[in-house]
Amino acid sequence: MTNLLENLKISFFVLLKRMTIYFVIHSGLIRLYMHKNRRNVTILTLHGVMSEEYNREWLPLRPQIDPKRLDQGLAILSGYYNFVSLSMALDILNGKVEPVDNAMVITMDDGYVNQFELAVPICNKYDAHPIVYVVAGKGDGLTSLWFDRLDYVLQHIKSEEIALTIGDEKIVLDLRDRLVATKSYKLFRDKCKDHFVDDYTFNEYMNNLISRLETESGHSLENIQNNDLWCRLARLGSIRSYLNRYNLEIGSHTMSHYRLDKVDRLKIIQELELSKKIIEEKVGEKCIHLCYPNGDYSEEVIQLVKDGGYLSATTSDSGSNFPGQNVYKLKRVHFPLSGSMRELLFFVTFGGLRKAFSFNNSYD
Ligand SMILES: [Zn+2]
Repeated sequence: MTNLLENLKISFFVLLKRMTIYFVIHSGLIRLYMHKNRRNVTILTLHGVMSEEYNREWLPLRPQIDPKRLDQGLAILSGYYNFVSLSMALDILNGKVEPVDNAMVITMDDGYVNQFELAVPICNKYDAHPIVYVVAGKGDGLTSLWFDRLDYVLQHIKSEEIALTIGDEKIVLDLRDRLVATKSYKLFRDKCKDHFVDDYTFNEYMNNLISRLETESGHSLENIQNNDLWCRLARLGSIRSYLNRYNLEIGSHTMSHYRLDKVDRLKIIQELELSKKIIEEKVGEKCIHLCYPNGDYSEEVIQLVKDGGYLSATTSDSGSNFPGQNVYKLKRVHFPLSGSMRELLFFVTFGGLRKAFSFNNSYD
């Protein structure tokens, strides 16, 4: 009986939220809100864009955006927003050009091949001119990011759980089934990020753990890297050909994806300067935009980013941007991974309401 009441209560709230979203969009309230905030610049962020239809070899636990969903999402957003490049948005924010009403920028982090092959062409179809932030030190086509390596190896481990220690804390990675494993893997990543106060120890811990699991299981993402469209990072040398084919910009996501506020000053400078230099050499374009790995920054980091010749930096702070603001603290909004197109439009527009309105955790 209690369960029934609880379920009825949840269904009621879900219905209420859906009706609210329907009302806000169809009554024209959303247009009114957007008109009032038309000078704001919204920056959307995407990670992997891939579908099981393209790659059935394995399925990452970290959620990806289906290309069809991206296409539908941009179709609805293009009816409400005007897509601009990040460089154009920067001119608007810096007051150099007249604002474009309801400007929207699309950004992609990490530089996966699937972003160049699948997501960029979809963006261009809607006249969106996205920016892809690449990890310069991983642009050799041979290496992967730690969270993808871990994701892959966890799915090739025979046991149903892995007992681990982080500092004094014992933690169990529960791999019983896919749903449990997805939550457990996310929890583990978040716990590790919180625990390690410097990224040298963090990366050493992760590397040791992943290498041990790869040896035990006999499976490593890097062995299948060449044919893996889920997690393969684009070679820096191949990016020029994408720039020749598509409208896009390239930015830096540092050399090694270390969190910049968790390494020393010398390392920050190296990550910023070297990535900029290598990208400019190998891609043949000016590299003037940065994306902070994991969205983490500090005032010291910001100063070094400015000193390093970057003109902007994007964070993972949620919200929109307005002329006159600090362009080294650009806020972004996640492209919702699930929900109807109406909900997608609502959550992109009212990013701040996402937590209160989300029906489950799938938006994160
Ligand atoms: Zn990243």
